[in-house]
This record gives sequence, C-alpha cells and structure tokens, in this order.
Amino acid sequence: MTTDTTNLQAYRASLLHFHADPAFAEDAHTWIEDGLLLVEDGRVKAAGDYASLAPTLAPDVRVVDYRGYIIAPGFIDTHVHFPQTDIIASPAPGLLPWLDTYTFPTERRFGDPAHARAGAEFFLDELLRNGTTTAMVYCSVHKESANALFEASAARKLRMARGKVLMDRNCPDFLQDTADLRESEELIQRWHKQGRAMYAITPRFAPTSTEAQLAATGELARAYPDTFIQTHVSENEDECTWVRELFPQRRSYLDVYEHYGLMRPRAMFGHCIWLDDADFARLADTGSAIAHCPTSNLFLGSGLFDLAHADRAGAMVTLATDVGGGTSFSMLQTMNEAYKVARLKGSYLPALRMFYLATLGAARSMGLEGTIGNFVAGAEADFIVLDPKSTPLLARRTAHCTTLEETLFALALLGDDRAIRATYAFGERVHERSTYGQVAA
Ligand SMILES: [Zn+2]
Repeated sequence: MTTDTTNLQAYRASLLHFHADPAFAEDAHTWIEDGLLLVEDGRVKAAGDYASLAPTLAPDVRVVDYRGYIIAPGFIDTHVHFPQTDIIASPAPGLLPWLDTYTFPTERRFGDPAHARAGAEFFLDELLRNGTTTAMVYCSVHKESANALFEASAARKLRMARGKVLMDRNCPDFLQDTADLRESEELIQRWHKQGRAMYAITPRFAPTSTEAQLAATGELARAYPDTFIQTHVSENEDECTWVRELFPQRRSYLDVYEHYGLMRPRAMFGHCIWLDDADFARLADTGSAIAHCPTSNLFLGSGLFDLAHADRAGAMVTLATDVGGGTSFSMLQTMNEAYKVARLKGSYLPALRMFYLATLGAARSMGLEGTIGNFVAGAEADFIVLDPKSTPLLARRTAHCTTLEETLFALALLGDDRAIRATYAFGERVHERSTYGQVAA
C-alpha cells in the first residue's frame, strides 16, 4: 500500500517528541535517530522510522532531507509581552521602576494601529526565528494592539493566544481602562477560535485592577469558559507587599485571583516566585498553570522560582520568556537560565525535561494536548528543525556528545536563534535560517 500523495510532505531527520513528563514517567519521549515526519494538509500524518515509512511513499513524494538535524515540536512560550519588544534589555533597578520608566511609555504607542501592525510583524518574525510557534501574549491596553496581532498571526496561520491588557488604576491616565469589559468581549467574539486564534483574558496584575474590574474579569471568564486567562502573580517582594496593602482581606496574592474566579483550567500565572504551600496546592487543585520566566526573574532581580516545590504540589509548570522583562526571545536561552535557577534552588533540571516543558508540557497546561506539542497523528504540524552544529562551539561540543541528554543540554546552554534551522507552522515553512534543506534524490 502506498500513501496518498495529495498535499503530502515528508521530512527526514532525527525526531524528538514527548508523550509524558520525564520527571514523572519512564519512556516519556520518543527519539528516532533516522526518522521521517509525514505532514498532510497542515497536520501530522505519521512520525516514525525512515526505514519503515519511506517504502509507503509514492515515488513522486519529495523527501526534504534534514539529516544531521533534529525535528522537534515548535516551542511554546507561555508568557510574553508583544509591545515590550522595543524595550528589551532596558536598565532599571527592579520591576516597579522598570514599568514606570520604560513599559508604560512604550505601550502607549500601541494605540496607533500602524505602529501596532509594524510591531506585530516584527514580534512574530522574532518568535518564529527562535522556533516559537505558539505563545500566550500580552498586548497593550488598546484593542488596536490586539487586533494587529490577531491579523498578523492569522496571515501566518499561527496558533496564538493573546489578549488586550486590562488595568484601571495605579497606571498612567493614558493607559487607563475601566471595569466595562465590552472591548475584551468584542475581541473574544471576533477572534476566539477563528482559525487557530485563541483569546486570553488579560488583567495585567492585581495592583492595576480595581475590585470592580477584577469582578467583571471573573464574570467574563465564566461566560467564556474555553478562553484563556493570563496574569502575573508574586513576581517580586515589593509588589507582594503592595498587594497585601491593596487587598488586606485576602489570604495571599494568588488568593486575590481565586476570590474573583480567575483560577481554572487554561489560567496561566506568570512568575509564581513568592508562593506558599497553600498557593501551590490551589494552583494544582484548580488546574491552573505556572509560567516560569527565568531570564526575566534574574534580570529584574525578582527572585528564584522553586520548581521542586511546584512539582511536589503537582502544579503544572511551563517555561516562558517574559520579553521585555525577559532578556531573550529564545526558549533555548530560557532553558539555560531555568537550569541555573533550579541549581540555585538545590534541584536539577535535565535537558529532556526542559524540552518537554517547552513543548508538550505547555500544550497540556493550555488544554491543547493532541492539537499541538507533539507528533501524534492528527496534531497540527508546528515543528522546528534544530541544528546541533549551528555555531563552531556547538559543533565542537556536540561532536563529543554520547547521549541525547548531552546533545539537548548543549543546545539549551549554548543555543539561540542560530540553532533554529527552520520553523514550520501548520505544515508551512514560516522561517528559514539560510538556505532551504537539501531535497533528496
Ligand atoms: Zn510579564
């Protein structure tokens, strides 16, 4: 029997993907040294051994030859601010002065549709250059910024979640919203589940929302239960003190969100550094997830996320860049810093787990397992072609690797956008580093 050739694409490379969390399951990953990925109409048709799948192909199917490279699912960045692209790597002594000095003035410009559109194009190109095919994105407070990003993502057929920021106090007048969430609801109705678009209800963080706005946000989240929710929690100690003053009746910072109905499956909480046992338990019990943002936490001096604590509680953890508080769009560089943060907290984070967290782990936490995050048949074909020899140093190091863990670890510690040979979204190539892969004879 031969495979139907209609729209069939075939990619030969080493294949890596996951079925479970390597921290809690044996045989959590699939590694095929000489593999073949078959894609049809934007979806994975099969992922297996080249030797067994190649004979099923009709003679006219071209096999894109990526031998020497690793094909893995596209990375998922679960917390990133698109208007902050322009202020990445801006110096400031901590989170709150950084917001006042850089973030708010920059976000103001995103009320201009032309500025928002140009920013969205650059932002998406940068994600794809770094192998990130799905992200949970904070826009600015302006609906124009959200519309610009939705339109640019739709043109690239990307599976992205994003929403306009909500904030109606403790921010400059020019960014101030109200407790009337009509604009968010209109954006949900216009965009959520249109093609691959997804909406995330996005209160910036508790200090910049009145209780009236938080209550309205909870109502909106109940009215649209399959939307995402994203916000920040317990990032830095000054911020935590501030929240205690603003919400003295609440048990904890996280409890503010629970009180207003914002903890549920598909809720993503950025940072989660200064949490206690009860907070981690609530995250686990409500099916909410954590976006661990190590480059941002180190850059702003916010603190060290306790992965082992989250694991003990059974809370879902993902990795995120948090650009522009984060210092890199690269999920490889995010892994690099996550590894070091884990070491400083006395635990050890293997490379295999980091690749899981950045792919299937994130998909699971977003309720998207089977849709993105691995290569099960029928999944949307978002994948990247990793180059273990992308720099002279990586080439020299990986030439001496004897295990998959060593190779992935070298990629995580030494790799960046140069290690992404190509990026595919819904079966189409949306980024290539230089020349296209060789086509086998
Ligand atoms: Zn953030």
